[in-house]
Parts: sequence; structure tokens; C-alpha cells
Amino acid sequence: MEFRDLKKQYQTHQKEIDAAVSAVIQEAHFISGPQVAQLEAKLAAYVGVKHCIACANGTDALQLALMAWGIGAGDAVFVPDFTFFSSGEVVPLLGATPVFVDIDADTYNISPESLESAIEYVIHYTDLRPRVVVAVDLFGQPAEYEKIREMADRYHLLVLEDAAQAFGGRIGERRTCSFGDISTTSFFPAKPLGCYGDGGAVFTDNDAWADILRSLHVHGKGGDKYDNIRIGLNSRLDTLQAAVLLAKMDFLDEELKRCDQAAMEYTRRLHDVVKTPFIMENMTSAWAQYTVCFEDTKIREQAMAILKEAGIPTAVYYKKPMHLQQAFAKNLVEAVSCTTTEDICGKCLSLPMHPYLEEAQIEKVCECLINLLQ
Ligand SMILES: *Cc1c(COP(=O)(O)O)cnc(C)c1O
Repeated sequence: MEFRDLKKQYQTHQKEIDAAVSAVIQEAHFISGPQVAQLEAKLAAYVGVKHCIACANGTDALQLALMAWGIGAGDAVFVPDFTFFSSGEVVPLLGATPVFVDIDADTYNISPESLESAIEYVIHYTDLRPRVVVAVDLFGQPAEYEKIREMADRYHLLVLEDAAQAFGGRIGERRTCSFGDISTTSFFPAKPLGCYGDGGAVFTDNDAWADILRSLHVHGKGGDKYDNIRIGLNSRLDTLQAAVLLAKMDFLDEELKRCDQAAMEYTRRLHDVVKTPFIMENMTSAWAQYTVCFEDTKIREQAMAILKEAGIPTAVYYKKPMHLQQAFAKNLVEAVSCTTTEDICGKCLSLPMHPYLEEAQIEKVCECLINLLQ
């Protein structure tokens, strides 16, 4: 069994993907070929946002957003304590200070209450300026944007949506990558919309920021690429990746639906024996991960061993809270305690999840867990 079955996806759609890749190789326009602009237009329309700038990966996408806003030394950036390293990594990279915020015990997304406490702490007990909240749509479910937006308005913060795990997710009919002042995603192969290498994108409705982002991702270019008006990055999405993504977008909705069905099937079988994912009313997850939570670490280790024995791959996202990562130790501002994150890190386990998961496979995973836990 595969954790995320990219081979099966390719076999299912081989004709379209091969044709798209082959066209790029024959046209030999490998950097900034026409497929890149086509993809940007298609992504922007899908999300319902005015501008999309494709870039080299999801981490660069976050960095580009913070650079466009001029975030740097003296600025506080609020980041959930339970996320992939990138969400916080880009903050000290630009000289700013990450302030880690606890998560909601049910959704595992940033806790609006903890966020408010962290902002108040920074205002009253540090010299930092609160500037940005990075809201991560963890495992595919959008964060609580209504509450986050209200707080951002009250404290004059910018909202950066990190939708690396949630492309295609929704609140009502509105898609992820449309909730931030700037939003970002990743096309890492195992993400809900993945390419065949590294890739990412930045989204915004703001014309001025879009201009800066376009410049920043090609060496700070001005009128042309040999006219450089600011310090930027070399962070383009290459044409081959754009072609793969264009082909894959045609069956993305179908894949999202299949993941939703697989998740429902898991939950139907498992909800009595383990804590299954909690999806808020009106929200639709893109199901980057299907993550359950056990009573304690010991049972999790037992579950992993039994599943491994049965040939079923699992993964722990995430073992370590951000505030305990050594890389952040140097300029850590402990504004709030992140006890929920610490608790969940010791108990969570992600199960195989992808659009090509068969019912018999789900049944096998669930049987192993039910045998252990009942
Ligand atoms: C994967 C991921 C990223 C980084 O994406 P890359 O394309 O691997 O750089 C950022 N944030 C979150 C939450 C992620 O899961």
C-alpha cells in the first residue's frame, strides 16, 4: 500500500500527462514557456483571485509574500506551533521574529484565542511590531478565517494564508488561497495538487503587491530581466512543471471528491475507537492528510508497529512543536504556552490517504486499528 499513490495517479492519466510533458520538450521553452502563464491564469480563476504568480516551491512562496510586505527586523509574525517547518522558517530568514501560537484541539488549526493572547503579549511585553499572522490550512482544512480576519483588522495585521496542504479546499463555495491578503500554496508531489518536482504559487487580489511579487521572483526585475530594481530571488516555476499541473488540474475536482469519500469511509469505520478528523461545518478539506489521534504515545507506537507489520505506511505529522525546534531557539519569544500542540504531537498519526485508495485498502487499515484498540 502507498501512503500517497502517485504511480497509480500517473497510470490513470498517463496519456494527458505524457502529451503535456512531450509538448514542452519538443517546444524546448523550458523556462517561462507559455504553459506558465496559462497555468497562472487557470489557477487564479479556479481560486477566484485576481493574481497568481507561480514560483519554485511553497517555501519561496511564503518568503516572497513576506518580502513583498517588507517584513524584517523588529517585526513579529504569528505562526501556528503545529505545522511544517517552512511556515516559520521564512520569518527569521528575513530577520523578523516568529511568535508561535497554540492550536485548536479539534481542528489542529491556529487557535484564535491563543492568537489574541500572543498578540497582546507582544504588544505589552516586547519591542516588536505585530505585523502578520500566518494561518496554515493544516492537513487540507481551511483555518477559521472569519475569526482570524476580525482579529487581524482589530490589530492591523496582514493575513498570510499558507495553503500548501489545502489547494482545492473550501469554506462554503470559496476556495483556499483566497482567504489571505496574500495566500500561498505548494505543488510538492505529495500535496493535493502536486507536480513532478518542486513548485509553488502566490495569490493576491492586490495589484501593487502582485507587481512586486512578479519582480521579486525573477531577481527583482524592473522593465525587463536585465533591469534590476530590487533584490529578489530566482524562484520561477519551470515550464515542465506548469505543463504537468495544467494536465492535472483537469481531474483535480474528481480527485478531491474521491479523497472526501475515502475520508468518510475511514471515519465511519474508526470514529468509535480513535479520534478521527473534525471538519468544521461548511468547510471542505483537500485531505493532504487523514490524521487520527490516539490516547497516548505508547498506543500510537503500537498502532504504527502493527500497521507496518501489515505493510501499511503511516507518518507522524508532526512529532515536534515549532517552538521546540532548535533552529528557532536563538530568538524565541514565548508569548503563549502551546500545550495543545505538545499534546497532539505525542498522539497523532496520519494514515494512507489519496484519491486512488480502494475500499478494501481502507478496510484493511481500519481492521488493524480496530483489533488493537477494541
Ligand atoms: C509543504 C509545506 C510547505 C512548503 O512547501 P515546499 O513546496 O515543500 O517548499 C509550507 N507550508 C506547509 C504547511 C507545508 O505543508
